Amino acid sequence: MNYKAPKGTKDILPSEVHIWQYIEEKSRNILEKANYKEIRTPVFEATELFARGVGDSTDIVNKEMYTFEQKNRSLTLRPENTAGVVRAFIEHGMHRLPSPLKLWYKGPMFRYERPQAGRQRQFHQLGLELFGVENPSADAEVIQIAMKLLDEIGLKGLSLEINNIGCPQCRNEYKNRIKEAIRPKLEEFCQDCLVRFEKNPLRILDCKNEKCRNLLALPEIDSIISAEFICEPCITHFEELKDYLKTLNIEYVINKKLVRGLDYYNRTVFEITSTELGTQNAVCGGGRYDPLVETLGGPPTPAVGWAMGMERLITLCEISGENPLDVFIVSHDTKQAQKLAFKLRDSGISCEFDFSGRKFGKQLEKASKSGARFSILLGEEELKTGILTLKNLLTGEQEKVSPEEVYQKLFH
Ligand code: ATP
Ligand code: MG
Repeated sequence: MNYKAPKGTKDILPSEVHIWQYIEEKSRNILEKANYKEIRTPVFEATELFARGVGDSTDIVNKEMYTFEQKNRSLTLRPENTAGVVRAFIEHGMHRLPSPLKLWYKGPMFRYERPQAGRQRQFHQLGLELFGVENPSADAEVIQIAMKLLDEIGLKGLSLEINNIGCPQCRNEYKNRIKEAIRPKLEEFCQDCLVRFEKNPLRILDCKNEKCRNLLALPEIDSIISAEFICEPCITHFEELKDYLKTLNIEYVINKKLVRGLDYYNRTVFEITSTELGTQNAVCGGGRYDPLVETLGGPPTPAVGWAMGMERLITLCEISGENPLDVFIVSHDTKQAQKLAFKLRDSGISCEFDFSGRKFGKQLEKASKSGARFSILLGEEELKTGILTLKNLLTGEQEKVSPEEVYQKLFH
């Protein structure tokens, strides 16, 4: 049997893991400066949580979940993490903590989709949620943090699209309007859209099918969909958000057809894309989801958040290679080499040695191949005197140093 990683999953190998670590480190710094605290929730939850929390008219719940039964319980590998975070928020009474409450997470998500470039079945998201603020300054803050993060990582060709999809009240009228607009051409839409037409017509705007997208672009349909429909309070919220973004010098484009894949969004929705990616060009998606906490059994709590696809960031992030090893110890005396290695590691030096004690020539070859910046020779003389020979593997220069001086020589 020839074992392979399951379709739609990928090993993250040591040769690329440094990019992940780099992005994770940068993100953590930025998020913690803005007072977001990390939360880690289980990778599986009750299936019902996603059916309620993501919405049973979404592709995610209808087609993409990994669900399994166990002792009459139905469990599902998380396809996203907002539902899990909200569940934890309610379960641990976090609404009683000082508001706003800011949380972030990272980890694997699972969706049964057709694997293709930029789309996997196990993929990773980094995301944040801000609870307790109804004011659009919260929407602006989360957008600012997303842009800052992508910028710090060095991503280019970014574009931010925003929209306001109204609140549960005004959206009903919008849904009717979408239905009226497309009814004359309804038979030409895909099977999924026919179901969406009945269950949640807004989601037709998110259809990936090219034929449906072309139909939506027809002037007679587009003009109806793009016309303003939201109520006064929603308009004010949107206007204020635009003001905040202008003050923060964040450029945006308004996309009237932007809706998100999840049912619980209201008012602000946004997406960040990169021109450097192919068809799957979205790196970050998010928005406001004021009704969700209450829907899942908590007290009414406004909330806004986003999630980024890590794999898509990784393909765009151009950073140089891994950190090289500092020192490779060459010695016939494996015990002493190991002892010295532990000592150097304790003092903050990354260090390796040859476990075999074989010929110096072979060990030196291994030292150069290891990519180490320096080697330390620990021969008979060095063992007798306690003074080490430090060799710069790039220039070939050698000098005598005491073990205590190594750190100084390497880093200053
Ligand atoms: P799409 O419309 O492309 O399917 P989505 O609405 O399902 O996207 P979200 O649920 O908002 O996406 O997820 C946020 C981000 O997570 C996306 O912008 C993308 O970068 C990433 N993402 C989503 N699904 C996948 C996947 N299957 N593989 C890799 N990354 C993904
Ligand atoms: Mg999707």
